[in-house]
Amino acid sequence: MADAVVPCAGSVAVFRPGAVEVSGDSVTRVGTVAELRGDGGGSGARANDAGTEAREVRVEGALLPGFVNTHCHSPMTLFRGTGENLPLQRWLQEVLWPREAHLEPEDVYWGMTMGIAELLAFGVTTSCEMYFHEDATADAVVAAGSRAVITPVVLQLPGDESGGDWWTAGLDRFSDFHAHRNGEAGRIEVGFAAHAAYTVPLAGLIDVAAVARRHDALFHLHLAETATEDDTFVAEHGGSVPRVLAESGVFEGRVLAAHSIWLTPEDIAVYAARDVAVAHCPQSNAKLASGIAPVIDLLASGVRVGLGTDGPASNNDLDLWEEMRLAAMLARLRERDAGALPAAQALDLATRGAGAALGRPDLGTLAPGSKADMMAVSLDDPAFVPLLDDAMLIEHLVWSASSRLVTDVWVGGDQVVAAKQHHTIDLDRAQDEVGRRAARLVAAAD
Ligand SMILES: [Zn+2]
Repeated sequence: MADAVVPCAGSVAVFRPGAVEVSGDSVTRVGTVAELRGDGGGSGARANDAGTEAREVRVEGALLPGFVNTHCHSPMTLFRGTGENLPLQRWLQEVLWPREAHLEPEDVYWGMTMGIAELLAFGVTTSCEMYFHEDATADAVVAAGSRAVITPVVLQLPGDESGGDWWTAGLDRFSDFHAHRNGEAGRIEVGFAAHAAYTVPLAGLIDVAAVARRHDALFHLHLAETATEDDTFVAEHGGSVPRVLAESGVFEGRVLAAHSIWLTPEDIAVYAARDVAVAHCPQSNAKLASGIAPVIDLLASGVRVGLGTDGPASNNDLDLWEEMRLAAMLARLRERDAGALPAAQALDLATRGAGAALGRPDLGTLAPGSKADMMAVSLDDPAFVPLLDDAMLIEHLVWSASSRLVTDVWVGGDQVVAAKQHHTIDLDRAQDEVGRRAARLVAAAD
């Protein structure tokens, strides 16, 4: 069953032998090889006629859209393996934030570069990043030829004594960043982030969301990650964080709420009514014992959900294949239902659903007009034996395959990984830089 194309365009269709026609940075046609070579066949008409010569992409294994990681702090590769076995609040306050307070832009550049190397090797072509030093993050994305939604974050780190509306200085800088770099190289989208309702006052959340709305940009925050994080908020504002944020207008624009574990049915109804999307991070949630998100209820309510890895210090890798399988397993445990979150739906959360959660229907699918972000997966492996029909191909992709079978990766039609080798990243140098810089950051915080 070589030459399969799995378009992940909202159905379980598989084209085989299939091919994708690419023009410029976009997909123009998807279908069987016979359809594409006939006249006007395929799954749709040409999306554009930009005058660029169309080329056909075929692979020996399966061709899938690149995965979309909806919630990530990739430069935290610098902190992988630190603060293990602590619950979220102690890990943040005792280990992470004191170290992040010493970050320099070059640290973030190399941490991000090594993170992108991992993401691309796993077939993850887009990541939604919440971090500091946004210019260094964007520089790394452009240099690596990857794709990212970069949402610089307002958060007070140790040593920052600014009082009053302390978040406004950051917001001014982020607006400037948006003006200069949104859309850069066709690879960068700029959004705005506030860390969480337990770290940023309600007035700050309102301000950040308003600025994001003004730019029609994504507003990204952590929400309902732990069972007790909103105790103070509820005491102060008289309602759950989702309810109060909705009443305060924070949910009026494009909103992405990471984690979203501890939601009442009323909170889920608020998400659905305000079209708040969820970045579901099952592995981080499990490792930090935060809880199991109500993914089935969210999906049943029509909430847009995509998978995220969270940062590599709470996961500890950026492998969305693992999230896909764990999401299905945890949904089944939570629902006590062996049929909850079937393989096709789990795959959807890593692809089309994740693009939709970011408000980017051009990501996570292979369809006319979508970005030509793709990965080739080898089917010559025990994970794909037996392979009796198309439905089984989807089951194997989720339940027995893994990122180790990703061989080639393209972003915007440009090949960035070939035969498992990076074309755009000096991985040896990135590993060396991150190792040295991590040691300095640990020493600086002690
Ligand atoms: Zn996070």
